[in-house]
Amino acid sequence: MLKATQILGSCASGLVSKPRCSGGLSFISVSAKPLSYSSSSRRATSTNSSFLPKFPARGTRCLRPFHLPSTRSESNPDGGSASSVAVQHSAGNVRKINFCQWCGGPTKHEIPDGEEKMRAICTVCGKIAYQNPKMVVGCLIEHDNKVLLCKRKIQPSYGLWTLPAGYMEIGESGAEGAIRETWEEANAEVEVLSPFAQLDIPLIGQTYIIFLAKLKKLQFSPGPESSECQLFALDDIPFNSLAFSSMFVTLNLYIQDVKTGKPKFHYGTINKRPGTSPSDIHAFTLDYHLQC
Ligand SMILES: [Zn+2]
Repeated sequence: MLKATQILGSCASGLVSKPRCSGGLSFISVSAKPLSYSSSSRRATSTNSSFLPKFPARGTRCLRPFHLPSTRSESNPDGGSASSVAVQHSAGNVRKINFCQWCGGPTKHEIPDGEEKMRAICTVCGKIAYQNPKMVVGCLIEHDNKVLLCKRKIQPSYGLWTLPAGYMEIGESGAEGAIRETWEEANAEVEVLSPFAQLDIPLIGQTYIIFLAKLKKLQFSPGPESSECQLFALDDIPFNSLAFSSMFVTLNLYIQDVKTGKPKFHYGTINKRPGTSPSDIHAFTLDYHLQC
């Protein structure tokens, strides 16, 4: 179940057909800013798929694997600078903790010795409440050139479509969590085939891991959190009615791979564009897109 997710993690823009690096991995930074190609975008080619939303790439680079630019943007925690290649090191939306989760005592907010970030520290027992990103796991289920989507019957994003996904539980692996979420949301039994994408959303402290999967049998129906479940042909995917930026990115990357006939594993960072509405899932940049 994915009940309180990336309301802020808007995304969306230009997923481009990727230039390949000789090392097998490529780096792509994509912006939703229309028609604002940078000089470095010459090597990018627009996606011309009949079923893909049309988005231009602003900047595209091929770098050695994991050689990230050193540019940093720490001044704007709501999405970074205007540069699509800026490394996002914002603090993100950290929840304020007023009481200790262990003893119930009031907390103070200080930077502990030897650390750099403000933490909630219990004034009674002295324990420090660390807040760390949450892992969301889900399945991209392929069947007969279609993918399975669920229409959400819960907030946020009520009535919008998503891949079956939700928070990973302690005690299960990522693949187990994705299988469980698929069962809960779509009453579908699936077999995980391979990891497909890891998408980080620093602003809201979430990391998505999406697996390619197949149905064990052709049976699915809405679970308690879904009002509909449906297999969509790729050119029928409701891109204007998707629930989350992560799903928008995942489905676009998948379509690209299908078009090229080369399934890949994708890593990327979804950064919300500054000044955009939190509910606009198309207002994002996809940075550090690595694929192999
Ligand atoms: Zn305490």
